[in-house]
Amino acid sequence: MITISKSKFKQYFESKMYSLYAQPINEASNEQLLNVLASVLKDLIAKRWVDTKIDKQKEVYYFSIEFLLGRQLQSNLLNLDVENIIREGLKDLNIDLDDLIKSEVDPALGNGGLGRLAACFLDSMASVGMSGHGYGIRYQYGLFKQKFVNGFQVEVPDNWLTQESYLWEVVRPNKAILVKFEGDVYLEEHNGNLKVIHKNYIPVMAMPYDIPIIGYENDCINTLRLWKSEIPRRDFGQTTADAKNYSGSYEEALNYRYYTEEISQVLYPNDSNYAGRLLRLKQEYFFVSAGIQDIYRKYKKHKLNIHEFSNKVAIHINDTHPALCVPELMRILLDVEGLSWDDAWEITINTISYTNHTIMAEAMEKWPVDMIKKLLPRIYMIIEEINKRYVIYLNNKYKDQSKVNRMSIIIDGNVNMANLCIASSYSVNGVAKLHTEILKKEVLKDFYEDTPYKFNNKTNGIAHRRWLMSANPNLSGLITDLIGDEWKKDTFKLKELEKYKDDKIILDKLDIIKYENKVKLSNYIIDKYNINVDPNSIFDVQIKRLHAYKRQLLNLINIMTLYHRILDYPDMEIQPRTFIFGAKAAPGYYLAKCIIKVINSVADLINNDYRLKDKLKVVFIENYGVSLAELIIPAANVSEQISTTTKEASGTSNMKFMMNGALTMATLDGANVEINELVGNNNMFLFGLSAEEVLNYNKNGGYSSIDLYHSDLKLKQVVDDLINGFIPNLGKEGREVYDSLITYNDEYFVLRDAKSYEKAQRRLSELYKNKYDWNKMSLINIANSGAFSSDRTIKEYGRDIWFKGCEINGKINKL
Ligand SMILES: *Cc1c(COP(=O)(O)O)cnc(C)c1O
Repeated sequence: MITISKSKFKQYFESKMYSLYAQPINEASNEQLLNVLASVLKDLIAKRWVDTKIDKQKEVYYFSIEFLLGRQLQSNLLNLDVENIIREGLKDLNIDLDDLIKSEVDPALGNGGLGRLAACFLDSMASVGMSGHGYGIRYQYGLFKQKFVNGFQVEVPDNWLTQESYLWEVVRPNKAILVKFEGDVYLEEHNGNLKVIHKNYIPVMAMPYDIPIIGYENDCINTLRLWKSEIPRRDFGQTTADAKNYSGSYEEALNYRYYTEEISQVLYPNDSNYAGRLLRLKQEYFFVSAGIQDIYRKYKKHKLNIHEFSNKVAIHINDTHPALCVPELMRILLDVEGLSWDDAWEITINTISYTNHTIMAEAMEKWPVDMIKKLLPRIYMIIEEINKRYVIYLNNKYKDQSKVNRMSIIIDGNVNMANLCIASSYSVNGVAKLHTEILKKEVLKDFYEDTPYKFNNKTNGIAHRRWLMSANPNLSGLITDLIGDEWKKDTFKLKELEKYKDDKIILDKLDIIKYENKVKLSNYIIDKYNINVDPNSIFDVQIKRLHAYKRQLLNLINIMTLYHRILDYPDMEIQPRTFIFGAKAAPGYYLAKCIIKVINSVADLINNDYRLKDKLKVVFIENYGVSLAELIIPAANVSEQISTTTKEASGTSNMKFMMNGALTMATLDGANVEINELVGNNNMFLFGLSAEEVLNYNKNGGYSSIDLYHSDLKLKQVVDDLINGFIPNLGKEGREVYDSLITYNDEYFVLRDAKSYEKAQRRLSELYKNKYDWNKMSLINIANSGAFSSDRTIKEYGRDIWFKGCEINGKINKL
């Protein structure tokens, strides 16, 4: 840990202001102040950061095409335990730390859950004292900014690198790496050995930008290394002798520059959806190749025995996007290190582990053989050889052609990336118990039967430091007042809160904290949208990517049903409710964008209907991201986790909400199942089809949404509202949504679950009348949320996957 006195800090701050900007503090902009502060902090941690890099143990490299970090200042101050000193020091200089915290940009280098998970894992690896580093891409443009224009989503570029360098990064030109695309590959004999020659390739330089990942109150500072693609600089150390020869025309030079720079230009904005674009494949190989070469270079520098590689290095691939780690590691071991195929394979399969994130068919990566062959000729040869050997093994073992086809890596002119990952790794994990069971019994059944020992579950988690300690300081403070602060390093200790579940004074305190958080959110909503929401109403929140399977539409149908009920029975006593949405839709996902438009139109209708007397409000908050999540989640009473059962692999916002005392309205899907195991049916609201019922419908059919629609007049009424002009300012979007439900037989069982959802919502409403019971349930949720810290998740990855059988296993913070 670092220690610094207030006066020393002020001195550093002042002199940094002069060296960076040559001006006095009182003339600096917020942006400059923030830069100076980050710079001082980077200086303070520099020595520790370097020390952490000196390897003593097995290192983990976590490859992910997204890292959704969120702001870093507050998190870094918290983890370094210097927030108070620095707050006081800045105050003396007339600077408000909170202003600086809020002025930091949010690097949106991810779409949603998958990227945020990677960020929580980095935080936890450092905080439990693991040497674990991230590899990803430094996208020039992160996920688009979302604006609403007449209720429609409009995408605006997210230019997060306004200052061309990011606050927390350090660029390392001397560690740049050459990545080769295209060209010709052939074998040449050299003294009786075959040598792989790669000529006429297009050289791209991968420039590393390092971000420190600071552990919580320990000495561990790991690294997130993000690669930027560039045209090789003149002083670039690595030879490009065999590279493609450019004629030297101006146009060719421009095209080449574009080719290289385009690769790390922009993040693909799809969540759970595979778009087979050449540029995406380039991105995948680009960061994988840079990362694997980087690891190998470091390994050789330490003069370690190559046969010890898998004892010193663990490579984890987050979903299939980094699957090319497999052939790239093979390439290095074969072509550079000169190992035999069997030796290289032995090392590779003992080094790589893989996490599956989804069972949805449209998310499965399948790259056309022709595309890979042309872009990555050597990599394709290796994949072909892996496949050839795998198919021989499968044929010998099963003599069942259709099974072999299902398991093949190359089939029907495509490379199946999930199959490549499973065949080439020692561990395959799902992200929640139910998800892993579905993988084993349904989606990956063949593989599970073939190598059951590879399969394991690692239920996702969240960084409780960010999602509770930083985002909800008052709740965090109350918890510490009640049970001390050991829970911060061991979240299972939160369980001790349960002894206060009948303590009226404590429950009232909990209530006041929630109320204050709701006031903060209400102020944001008034400021931004001029909508008055009552902090005494139930804050009912659904924030996550917009996707048909997540069923924002089910939420909307219930809102419409409630709206009609209030109009039909104006004297009915109901708990006032504020429904809050936050969601981006992928720009090319037409139905999702239509749903956004419909929700916004309904919000307009409801918010302006004076007959409701403020009993109902609907707010769709624009541009949902990590920082907004930190504002919204602590203010939520209800957490909407209503995906079609079997479709949400885990979910993580469900965990963030639970930890902040919201009650969960849920289907028994993903990690909701495990929330239910912890708190029981009486402390959450369950509804909807079971996993079995959904799987059965999918296999045997038997669902007719149109029959349901005709048999339930109330339901018919709200569905018809989509197309009969009842919702103002709604054009063809209403019809599109209607068609998804009726014409296309409601793929995600929205209408099928609507009744059961409405009943659960009514039960919830009844319960809220008794604030005492509600707060008791809330406390029980907080007390049982410790299992969902990503510290727990990451220790399990360490114990069962990365360090299995390793000596250091015991050393990591109470693994
Ligand atoms: C946690 C988080 C998610 C994941 O939300 P789910 O509801 O689990 O899909 C997505 N985006 C952001 C910004 C998050 O913080």
